[in-house]
Amino acid sequence: MVPLMGQLGVDARWDIIKGNDPFFGVTKKFHNALHGRQEKITARDFELFMVTTRQNIAELELSGDMIFIHDPQPAGLISRKKEIGKKWVWRCHIDLSHPNPEVWDFLQPFVVEYDAAVFSAPAFSRELPIRQFLVSPSIDPLSDKNRELPREMIDTVLAKYGIPDDKPIITQVSRFDYLKDPVGVIQAYELVKRSIDCRLVFAGGTASDDPESDQVLAEVRERAGSNSDIHVLLVPPGSDVDINALQRASTVIVQKSHREGFGLTVTEALWKAKPVVASAVGGIPLQVKNKFTGLCSHGIEGTAYAIRQLLTNPGYAKWLGENGREHIRYNFLITRHIRDYLLLCLALDHEGDVIYL
Ligand code: UDP
Repeated sequence: MVPLMGQLGVDARWDIIKGNDPFFGVTKKFHNALHGRQEKITARDFELFMVTTRQNIAELELSGDMIFIHDPQPAGLISRKKEIGKKWVWRCHIDLSHPNPEVWDFLQPFVVEYDAAVFSAPAFSRELPIRQFLVSPSIDPLSDKNRELPREMIDTVLAKYGIPDDKPIITQVSRFDYLKDPVGVIQAYELVKRSIDCRLVFAGGTASDDPESDQVLAEVRERAGSNSDIHVLLVPPGSDVDINALQRASTVIVQKSHREGFGLTVTEALWKAKPVVASAVGGIPLQVKNKFTGLCSHGIEGTAYAIRQLLTNPGYAKWLGENGREHIRYNFLITRHIRDYLLLCLALDHEGDVIYL
């Protein structure tokens, strides 16, 4: 988005806060707790959060007419608003509909200092005394993650990861995170496999700011065991062409999350006209219109049932995938996202004015 905005004459910059392992331990707990998971948060956790916030406040060069702060981790940077002025927007990517009250009570005093909050879906938001906007995320269709790939490149990536192209491939791409239910994906696959011969690819990464991912990966590997039809892939960060190729090589793409932000993996899969089976959580229902742009499923058996339905009805699967691609084209590409951001800037800059579009 930054280069595209540049071409439109908007001088946009992107910056990143710094943190250490203890901070990431806290922010991961906050993330889970804001998604409604039970977490044990201590006074020390809140203090650690503030220590890193203060360091970043001191180090970051914050300037601009409009400052967007993404997600809870850097939310405390708002303390610099008094000194810098200008308009500040809190861009929240997660589902705040059922947060752990302790973490939300801690975060809310920061959030209400912003001029506006942006959520990815209406259901994610909370009642706040500031203006709220709805802006869905998006994908860039020309990026390595999403551009068309020649068949040879897809075959090369399959060979690189040791995946024979001999039977249908069911894929989930996700960070190794409990909220993505990787073991549930394997269980659903095992049910499908009883009647249809197919492979499972679980492609994911571990993230430096995610202290749980190594443990989740170990559990997934243990559950997969020595089954040569289950491919648990640890994909290095930045392997966008590999992820693209794995998605394109798939017969069905699954996203069996317990909780989700917007679910960009679903956007990416639909853009590739893939039939998707996904749980109706977070932003997924905005993308997967059940039985029109994919199938929404519940639980392990429901997921297995939907996958079987797609594997045995290729015509139906193709129709869902094609509808999915059109849905993404109209609603979730980067150009729409930039237009929304520019409208948001106009709305904040001309508060009270009538804007003719
Ligand atoms: N992704 C990736 N490599 C991985 C796992 C995920 O590049 O090993 C990408 C995926 O293609 C998507 C993003 O990370 O673009 C994940 O976004 P999503 O909204 O699905 O989930 P989040 O990780 O933000 O919860």
